[in-house]
This record gives sequence, C-alpha cells and structure tokens, in this order.
Amino acid sequence: MAFPGLTDSMEWMEVRTPQDAYHFGLYQGGMFGIEPSLFQSGVFRPQVKPLSVDNLYAVGASIHPGGGIPIVIQGAQLMVRQLVQDFQITSASTTARST
Ligand SMILES: Cc1cc2nc3c(=O)[nH]c(=O)nc-3n(C[C@H](O)[C@H](O)[C@H](O)COP(=O)(O)OP(=O)(O)OC[C@H]3O[C@@H](n4cnc5c(N)ncnc54)[C@H](O)[C@@H]3O)c2cc1C
Repeated sequence: MAFPGLTDSMEWMEVRTPQDAYHFGLYQGGMFGIEPSLFQSGVFRPQVKPLSVDNLYAVGASIHPGGGIPIVIQGAQLMVRQLVQDFQITSASTTARST
C-alpha cells in the first residue's frame, strides 16, 4: 500500500442538499412541504379538501396544518374527521361493517 493508514486518517461526511431532497420527491426540495409563509399558512394553506372535486382528500406536509411529523399526524386526524362527517360514518356503522 502506497499510503499506509490513509483511510483511517480521513474524515468522511455525507451532506445532502435540497437538490437531493428534490430528487427523493420532496416538493422543491423542502423538508416541510410548501413554504409556511403567511399566505400559505392556516386558512390559506391547501386544506383536506383542496379542490371542489368529490371524494378527493389531501393530507401531508403541504396541507393544513403543515409539515413536521406531529403536525402531519394532526392533519391526518383532521382528514379522518372530514371523512367521518362527509360519509356519515358512525361507530354503529363501522361496527356493522366489521361484523
Ligand atoms: C431530512 C429531514 C429531517 C426531518 N426531521 C424532522 C424531525 O426531526 N421532526 C419532524 O417532526 N419532522 C421532520 N422532518 C419533516 C417530516 O419528515 C415531514 O414533514 C413529514 O414526513 C411529511 O409527511 P408526509 O406524509 O407529507 O410526506 P412523507 O413522509 O414524505 O411521505 C410521503 C410518502 O409517499 C411516498 N410516495 C411519494 N410518491 C408516491 C407515489 N407516486 N406513489 C406511492 N407513494 C409515493 C413516499 O415514498 C413517502 O413514503 C424532516 C424531514 C426531512 C427531509
């Protein structure tokens, strides 16, 4: 070996950029969905029913209430509430279907 101990004396660090994130499918390479700017937050952010199309629902970082795992879980809960309301799902109807 021409340079003994060379590998051990090297430090290695892998750095990922927004460009890499973009290639992994993240919208514009962002970690938390669309930018949480004023007019993309709260009521201005896409909602669980983002379009007036029947039976189309949305959830995830770019949807209200926003990005980050705990917040996305809250969004999932909001979507379930919407589904329960829209499809008039009751505990009795779910029990009836599962038996
Ligand atoms: C590097 C990094 C670090 C982070 N750290 C934290 C943290 O410490 N704490 C925190 O709360 N949040 C963190 N976040 C943010 C958090 O991960 C996201 O906000 C959250 O995961 C978004 O959830 P999501 O369901 O919208 O999307 P994702 O979790 O990305 O889920 C989308 C899923 O859909 C799949 N998918 C995409 N396209 C298709 C397709 N066409 N067909 C089928 N499946 C498809 C993807 O493979 C993926 O599994 C981090 C994000 C990144 C990138």
